[in-house]
Amino acid sequence: MPAVKSPAKKPAVAAKGRVPYVDLAGQHRPLKAELLKAAGEVIDSGQFILGPQVEAFERAFAALCGARHAVGLNSGTDALVLALRALGVGPGDEVITAANSFVASASCAAVLGAKPVLVDVRPDFNIDPAAIEKAITPRTKAIIPVHLTGRPADMGPILEIASRRGVPVVEDCAQAVLAEYRGKSVGGFGAAGCFSLHPLKTLNACGDAGVLVTNDEKLHESVRTMRNLGLKTRDNCVVWSGNSRLDTIQAAMLLVKLKHLGAWTRARRENAAFYQEALAGIPGVVVPRDAVGEKAVYHTFIIQAERRDELKAYLAGNGVETAVHYPRPIHLQDAAAPLGWARGAFPEAERQSERILSLPVHPDLSRDQLRRVADLVRSFYR
Ligand SMILES: *Cc1c(COP(=O)(O)O)cnc(C)c1O
Repeated sequence: MPAVKSPAKKPAVAAKGRVPYVDLAGQHRPLKAELLKAAGEVIDSGQFILGPQVEAFERAFAALCGARHAVGLNSGTDALVLALRALGVGPGDEVITAANSFVASASCAAVLGAKPVLVDVRPDFNIDPAAIEKAITPRTKAIIPVHLTGRPADMGPILEIASRRGVPVVEDCAQAVLAEYRGKSVGGFGAAGCFSLHPLKTLNACGDAGVLVTNDEKLHESVRTMRNLGLKTRDNCVVWSGNSRLDTIQAAMLLVKLKHLGAWTRARRENAAFYQEALAGIPGVVVPRDAVGEKAVYHTFIIQAERRDELKAYLAGNGVETAVHYPRPIHLQDAAAPLGWARGAFPEAERQSERILSLPVHPDLSRDQLRRVADLVRSFYR
């Protein structure tokens, strides 16, 4: 029989020095009664599809991003797919995105019959605007900058190129709720901003969920219709589409969590600031920092380290869980083989894939845990 833990205390494992990469149970413990109450209200109402909780979440999320509209969806992936569909992307078209992202940044184009056109990134992990410009052809129908790790992509030059070449921008904001570029929240820079609310993202549902924001009336109407089988009214389908609705129980629980997002984001940034100081000056380790005009939200805190795999094993041996986001760039995925890129196509993304290591940065980490991680990294390179 496992020992019964007191919910009021930090788990005993923390005292032994274990540092978990994520702690969803810890995040939910203080919210559980409120989450269950919110879910219970939906159950009592009997309205499980769309309805007031979804609408309230959409209003709150649009306001949070400073965007005119938000549409609640079932995932970040479908947010990307529907944004592209609303822009008319289809077979034969090309969509430019970064080679080092989560696969959804590229698969959203491929599932519509379009070709994902990958480009290389800068040392800060984000898409290189100069590489975007070189990749544009007459078939390019959209550019998807990814705000990877919660750091805003360099939207100034990206928007300049996009408007000069007449190509719409869809922001992949899956990792970047509340991130800012030049004082403005991500999501409202291009035609649409696509967010994931997956359990491992910074604003996380208790299951799959996503949301799209836009300032464009036509795109808004189009995505709203397409998320619901293309039904303009209950009895008239105006376009063939699937079912991508945000689940109502998830919306109710997301409304509870939204109240804590500001504090969680501050805690992530404080944890990042701790690492930035504690890990400064270690030879062979590059630590991520906010550039001028950026506010990153540190969905992940990714160092670039020599002997990464050895460091990862050393940390694991000392109870510190880490992750690699992502070990295999998109062009080297099996599904990408027909696109024809070989190893060497995107040197920066490939170099990073061998050096990156995501340290635990979630909001529930204690100072002692952060210090332990930093001390271990330092001692590894001593
Ligand atoms: C998580 C993620 C997605 C996909 O979101 P889901 O909600 O899991 O479908 C897309 N792009 C990036 C960069 C992500 O991290």
